[in-house]
Amino acid sequence: MRGIQVKNFGISFGNMEILKNLSFDVKEGEIVTILGPSGSGKSTILRSIASLQTHYEGEIYLNETCLLNHHSSCHKEIGYIFQDYALFPHLNVKENIGFALYSLSKVEKQRRVDELLKQFDLVEHRNKQIHELSGGQQQRVSIARVIAYNPRILLLDEPFSNLDSILRNKTKLWLKDVIKNLGLSAILVTHDQKEALSISDKIGVIQNKTLVQFSTPQELYHHPINLYVAKFLGDINILPKEVVDHFNLKIKTDQTPIIRTHHCKISQNMTPFKMCVDKLSYCGDYFEVTLTFQEIIKTHITLNVDTTFELHDKKNIYLEIDPKDILLVNTI
Ligand code: ADP
Ligand code: MG
Repeated sequence: MRGIQVKNFGISFGNMEILKNLSFDVKEGEIVTILGPSGSGKSTILRSIASLQTHYEGEIYLNETCLLNHHSSCHKEIGYIFQDYALFPHLNVKENIGFALYSLSKVEKQRRVDELLKQFDLVEHRNKQIHELSGGQQQRVSIARVIAYNPRILLLDEPFSNLDSILRNKTKLWLKDVIKNLGLSAILVTHDQKEALSISDKIGVIQNKTLVQFSTPQELYHHPINLYVAKFLGDINILPKEVVDHFNLKIKTDQTPIIRTHHCKISQNMTPFKMCVDKLSYCGDYFEVTLTFQEIIKTHITLNVDTTFELHDKKNIYLEIDPKDILLVNTI
């Protein structure tokens, strides 16, 4: 298989085990995201694939060649985009982009750099020093510098974490286009589920030092393997007893009934679920509303409601739940 295969990967630092028994494939042309909280070992996986870290268990294959055995010949295929960009502060934009092109003649190098400056919308900044650029421009330079030497595999460590939210959205779509147009295989690591859902062909979720689920964004979102994955992929409500009883749900002892927040709606009509507004939080386009059942204050449901809706504390409303939106997931 062309692409990357990670097989039974494990790593410890001292006596601290960070990851164990982790396996996944990245086929040629695929974007795979590894999603996990801070400190779960995401950067360590990328460092190991780039052979910057070699004391691990298991094997990593690049186009069916084991990296540990053929380290030196494979690393040219890999481009690594670091979280902090790792640009050379003493070189200007042009020099940073051309840095790895030492094997080209002066004329060829110039042509390649000009091509990349255009492609990455950096022509007017070509003579600037790195500290004179915005975060978004620095990131484009860091990607151009790597693309310059035509890697087949891109490793991206939290590539959007230093960008503000508007730029982050734009950059996500742009980067996906760059990767797909060049037909690269990419592994991206992030703790941000929205990023993962929108950019990836496949996502792997780290829980308890290993990958608990590895599948398409749609599959992960609609069929999470457990409560942890469900929560990591988006806001959920654990359904209170009133709802479970009403729909007569048959729940096994190791299962939890959940519903995505966006599937909970306020009904214009009477429903079996009469609720009381407990907390109201204004979020611009919508209110985040916490509802409680009339008498039992302990159970609550959170949902988002259009701000045109008349709402105030203690107002009574009816909650609408479609039983087909209820998921039963493993608790652990
Ligand atoms: P993430 O990228 O998911 O935030 P990292 O891969 O950076 O996580 O780190 C995972 C854990 O491994 C952290 O607890 C970190 O302190 C530890 N770690 C990473 N690299 C080293 C190292 N070279 N030596 C010792 N501990 C390390
Ligand atoms: Mg990291």
